[in-house]
Amino acid sequence: MDTLGSGTPPRVVGRRRARRLRPMPKEQQELVLREWAVLRERLRRHASARLADAGDALRAGELDLPQGNPGARDYSWALEAYQAAGKLLDEAVDLPDLAAVVVLAERAVERLAVARARGAGHRPGAVPERCFYNPLHPAARRPPEPGGRRARGRVSARRAAADRRPACASCYRALLAGQQPDVLPALIRVRVSFRRTVPVLVPYYMVPQQFSPWSATACGAYDDDAPGLVMSGEHRTRSVMRH
Ligand SMILES: [Zn+2]
Repeated sequence: MDTLGSGTPPRVVGRRRARRLRPMPKEQQELVLREWAVLRERLRRHASARLADAGDALRAGELDLPQGNPGARDYSWALEAYQAAGKLLDEAVDLPDLAAVVVLAERAVERLAVARARGAGHRPGAVPERCFYNPLHPAARRPPEPGGRRARGRVSARRAAADRRPACASCYRALLAGQQPDVLPALIRVRVSFRRTVPVLVPYYMVPQQFSPWSATACGAYDDDAPGLVMSGEHRTRSVMRH
């Protein structure tokens, strides 16, 4: 399933393949860039819609919590996450930036619900965990119960690999089958000779952390510091280094 809705999954190459790349014909390079531009436009529209939804939810659910109320910190986090998502939409360069807009906008709404529950003295409901391989996917499946029956041989090794990160049902199935899941791609330039680089779509988590604030945090899904990072502009410094 292609969550970016292009119909055809993008040609994403894995880590080993990216290292073996040779100079590719100009037409092929243009194809990669065209494919990326189409995905980016589609994801920009989606991110814009999710941001508008979050704005509506925050306006409709406005809270007036006094300082010291158990929900006050969650509420101010929700507002900052929404603000950061808006800033990021204006500055987004690559697909993971836009995915982070979606993640932060959705997390703002989730945290608003937490703030409301805590503010009223209730215990907040569980917040869904996002799929590491593509944070735009449905929520990650629940981790297996510890002490469950162990499979053997090859399947066991694959299962161990599949259990390493939060994965949605579809990505989990792909990992168990030894296939690459439907990952969120990022555009990088890979050096193929002394003078030449070629554009390549790789899984977003392959981009070194020093060049992307999103590669280790599922586009801000696992990191409560993400809104602050965006508001201070640090995310942009890193992205610029890559492009
Ligand atoms: Zn997934």
